Parts: sequence; C-alpha cells; structure tokens
Amino acid sequence: MMQNNEVLLTMNSAEYIALEEKYGAHNYHPIPVVLTKGKGVYVWDVEGKKYFDFLSAYSAVNQGHCHPKIIEALVDQAKQLTLTSRAFHNDVLGVFEKYITKLFGYDKLLPMNTGAEAVETAIKLCRKWAYEVKGIKANNAKIVVCENNFHGRTTTIVSFSSDPESYGNFGPQTPGFIKIPYNDTNALKKALEDIDVAGFLVEPIQGEAGVIVPNEGYLKQCAILCKEKNVLFIADEIQTGIARTGKMLACDHEEVKPDILILGKALSGGVLPLSLVLANNEIMLRIKPGQHGSTYGGNPLACKVGLAAMQVVLDENLCENAHRLGLLFRERMQHLISKTEHIQLVRGKGLLNAIVVNDTPESTTAFDICVVLKENGLLAKPTHGNIIRFAPPLVMNEVQLMQCCDIIEKTILHFSK
Ligand code: PLP
Repeated sequence: MMQNNEVLLTMNSAEYIALEEKYGAHNYHPIPVVLTKGKGVYVWDVEGKKYFDFLSAYSAVNQGHCHPKIIEALVDQAKQLTLTSRAFHNDVLGVFEKYITKLFGYDKLLPMNTGAEAVETAIKLCRKWAYEVKGIKANNAKIVVCENNFHGRTTTIVSFSSDPESYGNFGPQTPGFIKIPYNDTNALKKALEDIDVAGFLVEPIQGEAGVIVPNEGYLKQCAILCKEKNVLFIADEIQTGIARTGKMLACDHEEVKPDILILGKALSGGVLPLSLVLANNEIMLRIKPGQHGSTYGGNPLACKVGLAAMQVVLDENLCENAHRLGLLFRERMQHLISKTEHIQLVRGKGLLNAIVVNDTPESTTAFDICVVLKENGLLAKPTHGNIIRFAPPLVMNEVQLMQCCDIIEKTILHFSK
C-alpha cells in the first residue's frame, strides 16, 4: 500500500508508462508521452516539455484544455450539487435541456454520459418508434449502417462494425443491422426497399475510419431517401459536431436536419462525460418512465459544464475559426505533398483533417511519424494504419497553426524509416 503520493510526484515518464503497462488493461496503444497539464492548445508532459495538442482527445477538447469559463462552472457547481440521480429533479437539468433544444431546434433531449451510450439510446428510440409509430412487426426492425463505421464499443454497436479488431471474439452479434457501403446513395436506396427498415445511422464524416468525407450532397440525398420511405435519418455527430468541421454540425453544411441527432465529446469541452440524443416529440415520447436511463445521465454537474462549454463555442466563434484555419491547414499540407513522397493526400473539413501516409496500412510508418512529431513538440495519433488524424482545439489562432504546420513539415521532410 502506498503511504502517500509523494512517490508518484517524483516519477518520470518511463515509470508512469510502466505502471500502466503492469496494472492497466492493454486495450490502447498510446504514443509514449505522459501528460500532466493542459491549457488552451497546449499540453505539458511530466518532464515539463510543452506540446501542441493536435488530437484534442478525439475532438472532445474543441474549446481548448481547461477553458477558464468551463472550469469555473465546474468548480461552482461541484461545491453546490453534483448528482441527484433522476429519482429527483434538479435545478440545472431543465435549464440545460431548454438551452440545447433551442440551440439545435428539437422538441426534446435525452442526456447520457458517453458517446456509445447515446448511440445505444438512439438505436432504442428508433426501434420503439418503428414498432409503435411506423408499425413494423415485433422484433423485425432493422437499422441500416455503413461499412467502416465507428459508433462506440458496446456489444450491440460492435456487432455492426466492419473492423475485426472491434467485433472479433466479442460475439454473438446483435441482429437487426444492414451494412452498406459509405457514400453510396444507390446502396441506401436498395436497402430501403426492405419494409422493415426503421432507421439509417450514419457519421456525416467517418472520423475513426480516417476522416472519410463523403461526396457533396450525399447527406442531403440520404435524408431525402429516408423521408420517402418513412425511415429515420440518424446522425452520429459525436466527433463531427460542436463546430469541429466549421459549422455547428457537419449536417449543417448540407442543411440537413436529422430525425435523431447524437452528440457527445465536445459538448462538455473535454471536462467530463456528457452525451445526448435530440429528437422531436413523436420519437422522444415513445420512451416512458422506467424504460431507459442512466444514474449519472442529466446530473447537474455535467449539465452546468455543458451549458458553459456550448456558450464558449458561440462566444468565441469557434465555427468560423475552424472553417478559416481548416482552409489554411489543407493549403499548407497540399504544398507539403508537392515536396515529399511520404504523404499521398490530405482531406477533411474545418479542423477535422487527415493525411494519408505513403505506405501500407499494416506498416508502422504513421505511428513512427507521430513519435517524431511528439519529439518535435506536436501530439497526433494514427487512426487506421497509414492515416494520421489532425484535429487541434478550435481555439487555436493562425500563428499557432502556422507553427504546427512548420513542425509537421519539418518532421515529414526529414523523416526516414
Ligand atoms: N461515435 C463516434 C462517431 C465517435 O467518434 C465515437 C468516439 O470516438 C463514439 C461514437 C463513441 O464515443 P465514446 O468513446 O464517448 O463512447
């Protein structure tokens, strides 16, 4: 038994990593850096080295690390009331619900904690609506999903993943899902001929798959096809939402309003887990007391943090900033591509971008580049194999972005295997 935490305070990075290796499950493969502090677009390791964060905790820290207004809301509410459960009302939940539903234009929301829980909630809502409104025969409802999706890690969600790493040996798989290629409206049209289809669950940009941006008009066309067949269009904006792609929602680029909208991650600015599902009454009121919930869902601490986090997005014009800096970033990367064989292409929207490294998906080149990026003061992580995602906090300014581009350029131009 450790007597006090003094021992911990004097440890170095290698020792912290060894602790995780010995006592933690091996379900991640992190870049070897041990962080202890974050502020805005920067993080510091335990040796005091400063880095640009170019991942933002998978787009959860859009508002920057430890944003003072969000932390102030957290601390104030933490001293007042943190958790009531939904056995009782609290004086923050309703205020939060009104603010968010007005902001996104829906009748109601259902709060949860993690992204995967919100996706599960959307699936349950869709099925209930299918049986009670659309009239699909009991237990027959199907939801269309896309190949190479990423919606989380629950047993049901991994059941419709096409990544063997995600579903392998976690069976039996939950039935009721039809997989079609992403960015293929003909495939959707065909799938919707099945009268038991209740919903289409889609990421507006596939983040984990490597920032796959569909053709312009894809989302709009999908929404139209769904409407024609009385099928719910369900957008998972957990990664793409909250200003990341240069608009509040990625669906806003095509003026598409999902029937069910799923949000998480940056909703709380990376301060604590907060996710939710938005829908109108016809869908949301299908779920009655006792049929769904979560002990922490809707807790006053998360709701207060969520209110502050969303206000920061609006006050600091993060949509506009992400749009403007995204254009500059892709321009710099295009220029870099013309000078190196290490990168094939850059793609993305707003500040959700990726470069494809010129090597096989099985190679470690992208990971190795990320290790050198770290040594040069910038933290990023490969998504799949040879793809590196670049997603800095949206509070970044142009000077900082140019410094980051300089680091990336220097790293790639001098990289040799
Ligand atoms: N959906 C999308 C699109 C995601 O990117 C993620 C996480 O990366 C999730 C769902 C799952 O969210 P969480 O890790 O909070 O469960």
